[in-house]
Amino acid sequence: MFTKKTKIVATLGPATSTKEVITQIIEAGVNVCRVNFSHGSYNDHEKTINIIREISIEKKLNVAILADLQGPKIRVGEIENNGILLENGKDIIFTSTKCIGNLTKVYISYQNFPKDVSPGETILLDDGKLNLVIKSTNKKDEVVATVVHGGKLSSNKGVNLPNTKISLPCLTPKDIEDLNFALKMDVPWIGLSFVRTARDIIELKHLITEAKSDARVVAKIEKPEAIKEIDDILKVTDAIMVARGDLGVEIPFQQVPLIQKMLVKKSMKAGKPVIIATQMMESMIENITPTRAEVTDVANAVLDGADAVMLSAETSVGKHPVKVIENMVKIINDVESHESVYNYEFAPEEDNHDRYITDSICFNACRLAQRVNAQAIVTMTFSGYTAFKISSFRPKAWIFVFTGNKSILNMLSLVWGVKAFYYDKYVSTDHTIADIKYILKKEGFVKTKDLIINIASVPISEKGQANMMKLSYIE
Ligand code: PEP
Repeated sequence: MFTKKTKIVATLGPATSTKEVITQIIEAGVNVCRVNFSHGSYNDHEKTINIIREISIEKKLNVAILADLQGPKIRVGEIENNGILLENGKDIIFTSTKCIGNLTKVYISYQNFPKDVSPGETILLDDGKLNLVIKSTNKKDEVVATVVHGGKLSSNKGVNLPNTKISLPCLTPKDIEDLNFALKMDVPWIGLSFVRTARDIIELKHLITEAKSDARVVAKIEKPEAIKEIDDILKVTDAIMVARGDLGVEIPFQQVPLIQKMLVKKSMKAGKPVIIATQMMESMIENITPTRAEVTDVANAVLDGADAVMLSAETSVGKHPVKVIENMVKIINDVESHESVYNYEFAPEEDNHDRYITDSICFNACRLAQRVNAQAIVTMTFSGYTAFKISSFRPKAWIFVFTGNKSILNMLSLVWGVKAFYYDKYVSTDHTIADIKYILKKEGFVKTKDLIINIASVPISEKGQANMMKLSYIE
């Protein structure tokens, strides 16, 4: 099962709600299960999370869980008659007062909408399928818009406002409630939707720290403001997601491919994992095989250097959740057999004084691994820092991480090429290295005559700064 370096994130839902199917998708290659708080009850989520934990223990796998918070998603309210048909050229009112929507008036879940918008700005409905332009606003509770490209509008469809500076907070009261639930369930990764600034992440991290949790944060990049602030966001977040669904509505869709490449490169350089999400195998919601374009999209994400590729409706409501993972694994394995996936060279920067020694050890361990064709780079870590750092250089060698910190074991499953082991016997550097080599050989991850590289802090009691690397054979 540990055959690929690029990780798979699968969104769970009605199609993947039983222990049987979740076991099958994990055995097929899922590393991270995404629980989407835009849907489902706490009861459902609790059941799902407990199933994942059971499987992790039974199969001795560290499956990570990503709790995805909805963020300030704007929606229309309930619409009469199962939906209305908006005709090109007609006007319609968007009101911030609750009502059942009809051809004259539709509720929008954004109280300050009339105050924040100006005439000429665009309203996109249902993932951009419907397009309207704002004609006027009373700056109080109603906005008149003209339909540019109409179609059917049904209840609760999403609203995107690509030109409007939205004043909603990034963490809504629902998000805070969902966050508290996720932290209570000890979820290792928290995703935040519609991030606009680094402050959004700092605020979320503050709440996580206040709850005395060690959960890490994925900033979902799907707003133009976040693209502009990406350097600052990358300084404070633990990972990012290229959330191409909303991103491709918020910015012109033709810009998504190069932005994806830019985001992957910047994340790798920052040593922060990056997930490529949405519509990767969309046709497999119905079909048994992906389109050739989808195969190429997954392959390109792996070639770009993504840590993980993500499935949404394909696994949450699709007809073939197990088959879609099997197909994705086939694509990843094929691309990973090619040399161009490996060995990115981002030499550590000297001005990162606190981590310069550690970063240089990780960087040079990867260079040495390439030169001698090492089977594995092994690190011992408490915070997980060296695992993220080594991974960011994308070595062809496996990255085996030994840690006494139980809270990072599952979390590390999102990180490219990393497999984590629980280990809490710290006697001496020599003894620990010998013991770890013995464990890896016994469990079949290495064999006699394989070369491996160990990195460690010397003396071993000085946990934190890796300052040593050792090259040796497995006996
Ligand atoms: C996306 O927009 O690509 C995305 C991942 O967001 P959602 O939570 O809506 O699936």
